[in-house]
Amino acid sequence: MTDLPETTDRKMGLVIDLDTCVGCHACVISCKGWNTENYGAPLSDQEPYGADPSGTFLNRVHSYEVQPETGPAQLVHFPKSCLHCEDAPCVTVCPTGASYKRTEDGIVLVNESDCIGCGLCAWACPYGAREMDAAEGVMKKCTLCVDRIYNDNLPEEDRVPACVRTCPSGARHFGDLGDPDSAVSQLVAERGGMDLMPEQGTKPVNKYLPPRPRDRWTDQSVLAPFLEPVAEEPRGFLAWLDRALETL
Ligand code: SF4
Ligand code: SF4
Ligand code: SF4
Repeated sequence: MTDLPETTDRKMGLVIDLDTCVGCHACVISCKGWNTENYGAPLSDQEPYGADPSGTFLNRVHSYEVQPETGPAQLVHFPKSCLHCEDAPCVTVCPTGASYKRTEDGIVLVNESDCIGCGLCAWACPYGAREMDAAEGVMKKCTLCVDRIYNDNLPEEDRVPACVRTCPSGARHFGDLGDPDSAVSQLVAERGGMDLMPEQGTKPVNKYLPPRPRDRWTDQSVLAPFLEPVAEEPRGFLAWLDRALETL
């Protein structure tokens, strides 16, 4: 019901390294802080100190214990936020035009004053990347920190998403994934960056870098059974992620 641009001038997005993410949640906290104190309505919490706390987050980290056929179990930390898809079903399903994708940089945003809180976009997103704010009744999602990355009032080193600036292990990278010469595109090419759930046909801009082999004696990753290349159907690590996401 809302049109997507046929092309965008740039494809700004995140590259998240599952090899170096240590699951510290610093990106979750910095995201919540920046997006509560700045752009749009604050991200609310409900009973934050009660027995059953809940709240709105634009970025969450899920941690899984992966048990290979042989060898010890290993933790995989999986940060998840909006992937700023090229064919974003959350936009086309929106009845008011509140959800839109920008032509200049490909960022998917919500105009909160036009959002009627119908929740259709959250149903359409296959990644569970949108969250309805219980206090405001409007849909929230990662803005790619659009109010930081072009903000001339900030020092140049701070003109990156809050989560990227904060990550202590350098697991989050930001740039133009539509430019094959950009640092993020080179990183994706070198490390075999992956689309999340490519079978959904959403063409996510964000990419994930798979974990490197861990066992220095055999050069064999304990995650090797999960890291087979993706074929027509998701297999290996992506299939495991698919199954994990379905349980969220
Ligand atoms: S801040 Fe970095 S290392 Fe920590 S959870 Fe986020 S992505 Fe992972
Ligand atoms: S990840 Fe979900 S919310 Fe983000 S653009 Fe894709 S479909 Fe929309
Ligand atoms: S880019 Fe900004 S809004 Fe998106 S997850 Fe990172 S800190 Fe949150």
